[in-house]
Amino acid sequence: VDEFELIRRYFVRANEGSGVIVGIGDDAAVLQPDPGRELVVVVDTLVSGVHFPADIAAADLGYRAVAVNLSDIAAMGARPRWMTLALTIPAAGEGWLADFAAGLFEAAAGSGVVLVGGDTTRGDSVVVSVQITGDIRQGDAVLRSGARAGDTVFVTGTVGDAAAGLELLAQGRADEYLASRLLRPCARVRYGQLLPGRASAAIDISDGLAGDLQKLLEASGVGAELDLDRLPLSDALCRHFDRDDRLRFALTGGDDYELCFTAAAGTAPDGDDVRVTAIGTIVAGGGLRCHDQHGVVAVEDGGYRHFR
Ligand code: ADP
Ligand code: MG
Repeated sequence: VDEFELIRRYFVRANEGSGVIVGIGDDAAVLQPDPGRELVVVVDTLVSGVHFPADIAAADLGYRAVAVNLSDIAAMGARPRWMTLALTIPAAGEGWLADFAAGLFEAAAGSGVVLVGGDTTRGDSVVVSVQITGDIRQGDAVLRSGARAGDTVFVTGTVGDAAAGLELLAQGRADEYLASRLLRPCARVRYGQLLPGRASAAIDISDGLAGDLQKLLEASGVGAELDLDRLPLSDALCRHFDRDDRLRFALTGGDDYELCFTAAAGTAPDGDDVRVTAIGTIVAGGGLRCHDQHGVVAVEDGGYRHFR
């Protein structure tokens, strides 16, 4: 089977009504943006052995490549629309491609994004680059830089699950829920679109809540005061790990793909099926300070300790 036949077989899907004038098959895609809307563009590359283990299931990889990009689009408050895929693989095994495509389209399902083109190349190891173009009403993009003293800090879902899932896998133990949080992160695409006009700033959590929130604080020129007792933790995380580990995963564990955002009103937009938790307050000055019911807690790389 020739290369384009493989692309046609696994990557061409119907995409009517999605602003696609020309999709896969020509030299380039031709897309029709809606009037009054700005384009929001993200790209993320996953390299075998760096961003995922070489023995990852093809479907999990396809899913992940899309989900991490959708998460960035969600953090801007934008609506995902069009996606391109640059795929480098050692050999085009049809089973692998079918599984990869199934995972890719599973992650895209329901988000409104359609695959409009890409590039397929042979190389020594697997490298997947997904680029997504979203759109948003003119001037509505939610930036990292808009947080102001007095705003409330919110986070969606629960934090620390992906890192906990990874730790359990490394120990040869398994928890179905935590493993799914690691392997099938759910980008908050629909909730993100509720943020424009309501959130002052937002970021998605890919490297850990503490580190990513700090990026938002720096961009906004403010600090934050976090209440660690209010961090939303899943039952599964609490079942498997003690308090020290829970906090370590919640604050410094990566790959959660939840949204952290700030809002002046002190209330978050209501998202029917998404848990949203107030975890702290934006303050003047800089830096991230944490406390729990016992007092101030110092958060360090990979750990935390009480000031006594
Ligand atoms: P060209 O040599 O003109 O760049 P290609 O053979 O690379 O053409 O691609 C042919 C068509 O298939 C193009 O429309 C391209 O966007 C699409 N395509 C190639 N690889 C992929 C892929 N992995 N996923 C989606 N579309 C792809
Ligand atoms: Mg090409």
